[in-house]
Amino acid sequence: MVDTKSEGYAVGRKLEKLGLKTSDTAELSFTDVKVPVEDLLGEEGKAFGYLAHNLPQERLGIAVGAYAQAAAAVRFATEYVRDRTVFGQPVASFQNTKFVLADCKSEVDAMQAVVDRALDAHDAGELTAADAASAKLFTTERAAVVIDRCLQLHGGYGYMMEYPIARLYADTRVNRIYGGTSEVMRSIVAKSMGL
Ligand SMILES: Cc1cc2nc3c(=O)[nH]c(=O)nc-3n(C[C@H](O)[C@H](O)[C@H](O)COP(=O)(O)OP(=O)(O)OC[C@H]3O[C@@H](n4cnc5c(N)ncnc54)[C@H](O)[C@@H]3O)c2cc1C
Repeated sequence: MVDTKSEGYAVGRKLEKLGLKTSDTAELSFTDVKVPVEDLLGEEGKAFGYLAHNLPQERLGIAVGAYAQAAAAVRFATEYVRDRTVFGQPVASFQNTKFVLADCKSEVDAMQAVVDRALDAHDAGELTAADAASAKLFTTERAAVVIDRCLQLHGGYGYMMEYPIARLYADTRVNRIYGGTSEVMRSIVAKSMGL
């Protein structure tokens, strides 16, 4: 535990992010900071092990979030296309709209199954690193596709931040980066396959 009054501790500028504007992100630096022995949390030299131990749960959390965000996108788009009229008819009446939303719903259903299975494994204390990586990879990659398609159904309004779909689009981009990138998730899954 580092006392923020310690010499050598500094908070960098607030970073301007693409999304997640409600959560501040800044770089913290610890230059030759001295930590008194009584402030040691756990055992010296084991920090990475402690961090790694919680990674599957962190990745499961991101997977659950991605599923929920995709489900919200489908809800936003379904409401919008019912409401928005073009060429004298609701956008919902076009066959393309129905097909796109049906595809998105089936993707969300699949995400829910993946997330439920991973949650059951987690509850049973059996969620492996590879299972969590697979769940994060699948849900975050598919949610990105679903959210993009749902934004497209909003037309130009989908690009405006006053519509929740635009914020969802910006906020969810990081899902495939933080908690470990999709490429790192693929590496973990491939390793579990003996590759
Ligand atoms: C908003 C935000 C919040 C964050 N919060 C936290 C936090 O709370 N705690 C925390 O610890 N971290 C946090 N991070 C950091 C985040 O986990 C890292 O940004 C992420 O793991 C990627 O690491 P990197 O940025 O160093 O990318 P890099 O490792 O530099 O990756 C660059 C590119 O190379 C690819 N790449 C890297 N290695 C391989 C490989 N072996 N094979 C193939 N491709 C590869 C990556 O997939 C990526 O496409 C946060 C990041 C953001 C953006």
